[in-house]
Parts: sequence; C-alpha cells; structure tokens
Amino acid sequence: MRNFVCPACGDGDQVLPMIEARRRRERSCTKCGAALEIEIPALQFYLYNIFLGVFASALVPIGGLLLIVRMWPVLCLLIVALLVFMIGGSMLLNNVANVRRRDEDNWRKTAPGRWYPD
Ligand SMILES: [Zn+2]
Repeated sequence: MRNFVCPACGDGDQVLPMIEARRRRERSCTKCGAALEIEIPALQFYLYNIFLGVFASALVPIGGLLLIVRMWPVLCLLIVALLVFMIGGSMLLNNVANVRRRDEDNWRKTAPGRWYPD
C-alpha cells in the first residue's frame, strides 16, 4: 500500500512514508531520478488530521486521568489505538495520493476540487 509507480519510468517499487505528515511532498524517483510531486487530496488529508488532532487532544487529559488511577491496560490500548490510526490513516491517504512529474505543465489543473482562472 505504500508503494507507488513512477510516472516517468514505470518502476513500481517507489515507497511512500509510513506516517504521512505533509499533504504535498516533492521527491525524486530512486530509479530514474525524475522529479515527482506527491499530493494527497485536501478533503481526505484534512479530515484525517482533524480526527487525529481531536483524538490526540482528548488522549492527553484522559491519559493523565488513567495515569492517576493506574489503569495501565486502558492507557496502553489508547496509545496503541493512536498508532493504529496514524499508520492506518496514512496507508489510506497513500492510496488516494496523486503522483505526478513535477515538470508536467499545469498538472494541478487536473486535480479534483480545484479551479484556476486563466
Ligand atoms: Zn522513475
């Protein structure tokens, strides 16, 4: 799920990061060296980040409370859940990511949900 195909040379062994932190990243193909731009659609990316932010924010006071009452299994379960959401969510985001060559002319116009006047 983390692999993607290079649009320049067709090499399918290019690997995306396990935990996605940026919506748009620039990188180059490790095989042919083509400059690539990887963009995650805005809606999915921000939904994921809002959910993760709310969950992580709720985890701090709840975690502190669990720490005080010494409910370690529940605390561990919540931290594992956070990791699962981070890695699982990144896998879903990587699946919908658009990979394009960076020098492609006006490539952003083909991305859904965008409108650029000429
Ligand atoms: Zn390539």
